[in-house]
Amino acid sequence: MIDLAEERCMQELEDHYRSLFAVEPDVEAWRWCEDNIVLTELETDYPGHLDTDLTPWLRQLLEWVRDDEVEEITVIAGTQVIKTLFMLCAVAWWAKHRGTRMLFVMDTEKNAADFSESRLQPLFENSKTLKLLKPSDPNKWNKLKLYIGRGLMNLVGSNSPGNLASRPAPFIAMDEVGKFREKTEKETDAVSLAESRTKAKLRRKVLKTSSPTYEFGLEWKSFLRGSQHVWKIECPHCKTYIELQKDHIRWCPLAKRGGQWDMEMVAGTAHYCCQECGGTFKSSEKRKLNRTGKWVQQNSKAPKSVKSARIPSYYSPWESCSFGNVAVKFLQCKREWNTKDFDNNWDAKPSVDEVEKLDWEVLKGRKEVYDQPYPKRAAYCTCFIDVQKDWFELFTIAWGENSEHWVVEHEVIQADPSVEESWEETLDSVLKERPIPLVWTFYDFGGHWHQNAINFMKELRQRGIRNVHLSFGSTDDKLPERGRRTWTKKDLKPKTRLFEMGVSQAKMKIYKMLARGDMGRGYCHYPDWLDDEYFEQLCAEERRPKTVQGRTVYHWVNGRTNKRNEAIDGHVGCYVGMLQVPMATRKRLIAEMLDRLRKEHPPKKAAPKSEVQSVKEEIAVEKAARSGSRRRGGRRGGRGGFATDI
Ligand SMILES: [Zn+2]
Repeated sequence: MIDLAEERCMQELEDHYRSLFAVEPDVEAWRWCEDNIVLTELETDYPGHLDTDLTPWLRQLLEWVRDDEVEEITVIAGTQVIKTLFMLCAVAWWAKHRGTRMLFVMDTEKNAADFSESRLQPLFENSKTLKLLKPSDPNKWNKLKLYIGRGLMNLVGSNSPGNLASRPAPFIAMDEVGKFREKTEKETDAVSLAESRTKAKLRRKVLKTSSPTYEFGLEWKSFLRGSQHVWKIECPHCKTYIELQKDHIRWCPLAKRGGQWDMEMVAGTAHYCCQECGGTFKSSEKRKLNRTGKWVQQNSKAPKSVKSARIPSYYSPWESCSFGNVAVKFLQCKREWNTKDFDNNWDAKPSVDEVEKLDWEVLKGRKEVYDQPYPKRAAYCTCFIDVQKDWFELFTIAWGENSEHWVVEHEVIQADPSVEESWEETLDSVLKERPIPLVWTFYDFGGHWHQNAINFMKELRQRGIRNVHLSFGSTDDKLPERGRRTWTKKDLKPKTRLFEMGVSQAKMKIYKMLARGDMGRGYCHYPDWLDDEYFEQLCAEERRPKTVQGRTVYHWVNGRTNKRNEAIDGHVGCYVGMLQVPMATRKRLIAEMLDRLRKEHPPKKAAPKSEVQSVKEEIAVEKAARSGSRRRGGRRGGRGGFATDI
């Protein structure tokens, strides 16, 4: 009778010799993974052995790992299509069958260590076969350095070029390449650096996975260089192979009521509408349809050794990616002016490098005569004072429901900012009586008169004025438009609180709002008294991509010869100021405004009978629409869909 330790020892020996002499079994990589990879609740809704029936697109990807002719694989995927699981399977297969040095690169070393602990190590510990590859010496099983079978795996962060360059390995896996350090003046980008480690190796394999970021991102460039495979499924109606696209996910148009989408109804009625025949199918059919799926190559010019594949979240069988949830996510992102999130993480496409530019004459054409200086539908206002070399320029914007806004004041105050008393003079214009509350004011700290600005703020605080603050624009492209709430400048006495504005993002939001031609959400109203110069300043800038310290960032370029752009700065200041006010306060002010409007124009009372009648009619229309969407081939080109504006 042999005890357990002995048995394990024998097993290890046997396995060791088998791995040395055995010929690689002729079984597909995905089948091997299904037999040997065990998932826990932490990784999937279906714990147990890996089942590629749920995600059949994994099979071809894993075959590429096994195919020695394929040297590079780039997988661009939306959230929930298990790109990380692909990586884990590839690592396990490679460790078992090739047993070479391996390098696993993540964006930072900390993330690499976390990943090792939470995903990689459990992968080897949970499976009977893979467990045998784990060394008996615990010192050889560390977070960032694991001896696996005959091989060795190092985990590094893309932010440590030294580590990347010093570790040659024929197998390199890079997760979330979009977040990697890009090229700098001194150093090449992390991906090239890691790839160069595999050169001159006989059986080399470079795996990259990522959600896309920008068109200029490392991951997207890598995708374009490869075979550009896309996953296609067979339409159950016309039997054509189609690629699921966001524009063909539809929902009931009646889900929009009073200008707002009823998200529950959107989620409940969303379905896919085939781009070839107009036939519809639901999320519940995805699993069956994915079984018919196949990868189709789109770039015939790519070398055989370079494969790339892209798959959006719509194919994912999980509930979180049902057509309904995707549609809701889309509408939410759109409502928050944040389609980049949706494009990258769900549609698996890079954000289009739109050069944002506006035509000042178009905006000028929208000038209007207000019903009163502060229009009735405005609930509160915010103010920005641009501090110039020898004058102050005041901008006031009034805000209403759904970010609809009105330019209500623009004043050039001829006073010299280098003189401390001049700052006081501006207060008359800031603190004057208005029919609606002024909730926030920013003075620009970016001028030349820092000490005067600080003394002025101190004075205001002593007088108990609390909603006037100093701000400065940040060049950080990633900083959200709201910016950093406060920032204390210590070397200036007294210590002063500054608000750092995310100008780059704010300008993008503002340009999107200014571009809206139809009234409603986000629309900007201009009074008839604004001059041409104001509009020219407002449209002075355009957005362009640029590489700064190795990352693609967007920056705004002033296209005017005289460089005057105070108006757009004024809009940024007022907008960011509005965002500083707590949401609850804004909602309360809007409610008060609506209340005021209702009192002024009480709604006409409708006869109770007709009211009931209209509700009945509405229900009937809704029912008809629902049954229509269920009908095969029905609702072709229906109005509720991605193409629909919110
Ligand atoms: Zn079809």
